[in-house]
Amino acid sequence: MLTKLNVINNEKVASTSGKLFQTHNPAHQSEVVASYPLSEPIDMLSAVDAAQTALPGWRATPIPARAAILRKAARLLVERVNPVSEHFTREEGKTLPEARMETLRAAEILEYFSGQGRYPIGEMYPAETPKNQLYSLREPVGIVGLITPWNFPIAIPTWKLAPALLYGNAVILKPASAAPGPACDLVECLLDAGLPAGVVNLVMGSGSSLGNVLLTDERINAVSFTGSEEVGTRLRTDNAGKKKLQMELGGKNPLVILADANLEKAVNAVIFGAFWSAGEKCTATSRLIVEKPVLEQVLEMLVKKIKELKVGDGLIDGIQICPLINRQAVNTVADICRAGETAGAELLVGGNILSEGEYADGCYFAPSLYHLPKPEGPLWTEELFGPVCAVVSADSPEQALALANDTRFGLVASVYTQSLPSAQEFIQGFHTGIVQINRATTGADVHVPFGGIKQSGSGGREQGLAAREFYTNLKTVYLEW
Ligand code: NAP
Ligand code: MG
Repeated sequence: MLTKLNVINNEKVASTSGKLFQTHNPAHQSEVVASYPLSEPIDMLSAVDAAQTALPGWRATPIPARAAILRKAARLLVERVNPVSEHFTREEGKTLPEARMETLRAAEILEYFSGQGRYPIGEMYPAETPKNQLYSLREPVGIVGLITPWNFPIAIPTWKLAPALLYGNAVILKPASAAPGPACDLVECLLDAGLPAGVVNLVMGSGSSLGNVLLTDERINAVSFTGSEEVGTRLRTDNAGKKKLQMELGGKNPLVILADANLEKAVNAVIFGAFWSAGEKCTATSRLIVEKPVLEQVLEMLVKKIKELKVGDGLIDGIQICPLINRQAVNTVADICRAGETAGAELLVGGNILSEGEYADGCYFAPSLYHLPKPEGPLWTEELFGPVCAVVSADSPEQALALANDTRFGLVASVYTQSLPSAQEFIQGFHTGIVQINRATTGADVHVPFGGIKQSGSGGREQGLAAREFYTNLKTVYLEW
């Protein structure tokens, strides 16, 4: 079993209390993967002290020099991809190829932002008065708190850390307790790449006790949070506009299949979007809306493909669908399925916890498909974060669009059609931050804005140039001489 520590001021430290918590392999619950410090607010305060001391030096470091550290960290992460992704799979459950791909993705994000280190950080304007140079520039926000979820345990910490560091902020990272290992590995790469002491501090432990320090300590200027709707909504209310706050929350993402679609491609996209990574993606396809003339055919194709999916331990070659993060998650998914059935959902395949034989020690739920006679009930409204997809039929493209938008979430939506005018109607009509045409709802390029509207997100987009908005403050300068 590995023991990983907090990083405060570039030193690896235990929690002040000495208390620990452990992570368990989702494929074999009896296997303890690693132990981590169960930190308390006093540890978080030490991290804030370290960040405060480090901030002036890091702010004064030229951006290309900051970028060079990110570039070196990217190289180190690529060199370490095998041990990092193996630990990742043991702890988070995702299949090894998925964990590998995410780790290499994280390296690409570091590279992308290191490239941004030579881009303009301001704009020159024509001045209304003579001898006046009028320009804008971007400055660091200051100390930034980052709170991340377990389902992309290396990509999401990197989305936040890379722009935060490039633009000169000092950072405190609080990764999710269910899978903090990949974030530890990422921070290790940054330290080995030469990051000065105190610029990134890593504190592990319970979100409810540590998150409060990040939200209330006046020295922290901004908090970026990715996680559940429930926690995010609470943080937004508690913050009451006091700090700069970025929220990336859940989704209930629709995929629409119109009658003219290439059904084979559409069905494959549903399989990939709804079931891979056990549906534990904020962008997962959890609602499928099918035009009536092709409904029967789509359901038949889906059921056949779902039955062929290989569910199991993500370390085994050829496994497609991994276990869920823990037993609690499995029980939550089962509860929502039972409530959905009570509300009238018709089970087409799956619907049950897998607990026999090779699954006995793991956290498995069968890939599941439900047909809903009406667009209502928890399978239509709630984010399950499991391998479950609910299907409704639509009488027309207009009705399909209305059904797609019938949710409090607004992260991503997809439509399959061979008609460009129809695609354009959906591009304009979807109420989401991201639209996919003839593509799965999941997947995101590293250099473009990512995020949602409505309950799915607020406070500015992540990734790409859009990330700059959150991690900098804009200053306008009138320079008369
Ligand atoms: P979560 O339970 O909300 O936890 C997210 C993070 O918040 C964890 O680090 C957690 O720490 C911490 N936390 C818990 N309670 C807190 C509190 N009171 N104050 C401050 N921080 C607190 O979410 P999760 O279960 O890890 O992740 C799954 C959720 O993330 C899903 O809803 C998914 O849709 C969403 N997600 C959204 C996006 C997006 O970009 N839109 C991307 C990925 C995931 P502990 O782990 O110690 O509790
Ligand atoms: Mg949670």
